[in-house]
Amino acid sequence: MSRRNGHWFVSFLVDDGAVTPEHHAGAPVGIDRGVAVAATTSTGDFHDREFITPGEAERYRRLQHKLARAKKGSRNHARVRAAMNRTMGRVTARRAGFCAQSAHQLTTRHNVIVLEDLRTKNMTASASGTMDKPGKNVAQKRGLNRAILDKGWHRLELALRNAARYTGTEIVLVNAAYTSQTCNVCKVVDAKSRKSQAVFACTACGHQAHADVNAARNILNAAGLAVSACGDLGVGRSVKQEPSGPREAVPDQPVLAGIPRH
Ligand SMILES: [Zn+2]
Repeated sequence: MSRRNGHWFVSFLVDDGAVTPEHHAGAPVGIDRGVAVAATTSTGDFHDREFITPGEAERYRRLQHKLARAKKGSRNHARVRAAMNRTMGRVTARRAGFCAQSAHQLTTRHNVIVLEDLRTKNMTASASGTMDKPGKNVAQKRGLNRAILDKGWHRLELALRNAARYTGTEIVLVNAAYTSQTCNVCKVVDAKSRKSQAVFACTACGHQAHADVNAARNILNAAGLAVSACGDLGVGRSVKQEPSGPREAVPDQPVLAGIPRH
């Protein structure tokens, strides 16, 4: 049992007997996790939603000011704190729902999902393009900005791994530097090719694409996988996949229920 944001939660652990399938009929996909759009796929799908409403953001901002004026340890301080937690609780729940839904869709469609390793992702992206200009209230506003900008990158990865146990999807992490500056067609790296948040236009070959889709394709390529699901895929078990051909007989191998592959 746990208590979070003014609500009690009861958790049950249930063995549903489900086994992870060995074969998946889908094709590989690369995913770019961004600030403007939560997740963009190499196939051009955008997964995003608003996690905090403008009204909630405004209310949260007001509560932050109230909290700053309230005496620490006072009942008023605790009351304001609780109100802030309730607001953020709704935001957190929305984010969790979004991640679970996206993960379900993506693992149902794809046999391999390639993500950028977040430890190597350029995190400064989240520091630019914020709604606030640097000023004296930066520290105070940081909490809210974090809530607005937080697209649930890590939570999406966890949700994908969880959903993948039911579909047999393989989750691959790649160290993909310069994915947003590399042309997916001619592979030339140039920061100037990234015209804006959304537009990629290669300075070398003229290739144009949505910047996040271009990045997602580079992420897919970084795992040694081709953008289109042809028969010449580069790595691992995906070579054995036959997306459009007849299913092979699945070898009778024991698979432990609910055990992640990684
Ligand atoms: Zn190019």
